[in-house]
Amino acid sequence: MSSITFYGGVGTVTGSKYLIQHNGKRILVDCGLFQGLRELRDRNWQDPPFDPASIDAVVLTHAHIDHTGYLPKLVKLGFSGDVVTSKATADLVRILLPDSARLQEEEADYRNRHQLTIHKPALPLYDEADARAALKLLRTVSNDAKPVDIVDGITASFMVAGHIMGASLVLLELHHARSDGSSIRLLFSGDLGHYDQPILKDPAPPPDCDYLICESTYGGRLHGDESPADQLAKIINDAVQRGGPILIPAFAVGRTQEVLYTIRELEEEKRIPVLPVIVDSPMAAQATQVYNRWNDEHDLEYASILAQKRHPLRTRSMSTASSREESKRLNQMHGPRIIVSASGMMTGGRVLHHAIRILPDEKATLVFVGYQAAGTTGRRIQDGEREVKIMKNWIPVKCHVEKVEGFSAHADWQGVLRWLSGLRTAPIMVFLTHGEPEGAEAMAQHIHDRFGWKTEVPTLGETVVLSEPPAVVGG
Ligand SMILES: [Zn+2]
Repeated sequence: MSSITFYGGVGTVTGSKYLIQHNGKRILVDCGLFQGLRELRDRNWQDPPFDPASIDAVVLTHAHIDHTGYLPKLVKLGFSGDVVTSKATADLVRILLPDSARLQEEEADYRNRHQLTIHKPALPLYDEADARAALKLLRTVSNDAKPVDIVDGITASFMVAGHIMGASLVLLELHHARSDGSSIRLLFSGDLGHYDQPILKDPAPPPDCDYLICESTYGGRLHGDESPADQLAKIINDAVQRGGPILIPAFAVGRTQEVLYTIRELEEEKRIPVLPVIVDSPMAAQATQVYNRWNDEHDLEYASILAQKRHPLRTRSMSTASSREESKRLNQMHGPRIIVSASGMMTGGRVLHHAIRILPDEKATLVFVGYQAAGTTGRRIQDGEREVKIMKNWIPVKCHVEKVEGFSAHADWQGVLRWLSGLRTAPIMVFLTHGEPEGAEAMAQHIHDRFGWKTEVPTLGETVVLSEPPAVVGG
């Protein structure tokens, strides 16, 4: 019997985990942390609904923590198989998982110091040693569509998904799955990239499949018409008029690189003056190196800039701060300048040190370039709160607050339909995952309206048997 069970990424965009059982083997596609609301995060602490030691292998679609962040815990609980993923994803996971562990340790430490816990002492979900142990299991492949063996009876092909560096569409082939000896092809969209975005190739066309597991983050939304570059140019020019600094909170992997690429382009087109750009995030600096390393993922424009021996992610006057001392020194600068720092939702990291200076400054500008989740400091400021608590101090918000729409690593629903139109035959079933309930339902409706395919929005813990013909619904 062959089956899929949905253990995450359903009813939410986080915690992606899909268990595939076939031929007595068990593999997990993605192994993500639940993030955001308390009731979701609590799930990370519950015993997993499967025995981690019984899992034979893990396949990762991309490096984001909501797809990889549970891996150290899985290893801590007894998993010891291969973790198969693209080379660039492995590079990014080597940066992100130890960082995730440090955040877990800091949070446990904070709870202990402030007696915010009934556990004595509060323990981290996992620590840096667990993350290092997980990294030892990485086995890398290319995003070149060539099938590789995962376990006995299951092969996988990885293709460019265009979401972040290294992100993959993954086609699993479950061999001899049906009684007539035929195999079953299961396609995971992973997180599907935005067509025509800078830096990365567009998503590869989908190979034919029997079942499709498709993301639906933007199932009910479209990206706006005004390009992020146009919006950013206007904001930067206004800020220069005022003579104040610009602070851009951005996630270190993916968004920081998109922002730097855009600023460099605006400078070259002389649409903005050349300003000092300070990238104050050691992780962002490391991630930028990974972005330059893997040529086969780059789009034509990026490749041609590299071919001219120019650096696509380096603005004219750019500095990166690695040490805390460098970071502090950069704080002494005056006049118009752009500071890019993590975390992107202002929940921690060096961006907070900059925010303490920037927020009360009437000449300064704070620019959001990504989604601000409910409950974060970024969201509070975006919602217009006049005072926010940062590192135990109340800081007045007097700076200009701007928001750039459209810097998104996800295809919107029209992009997903464009990708799906590459399928030559209808899948038996399309499962909509990685969406809030409204997004998943809306995406299912769009697919149904456009192609007439069968869709389902799975529920948490639901198992679907794949090896028998699906039940015929209605007449
Ligand atoms: Zn992602």
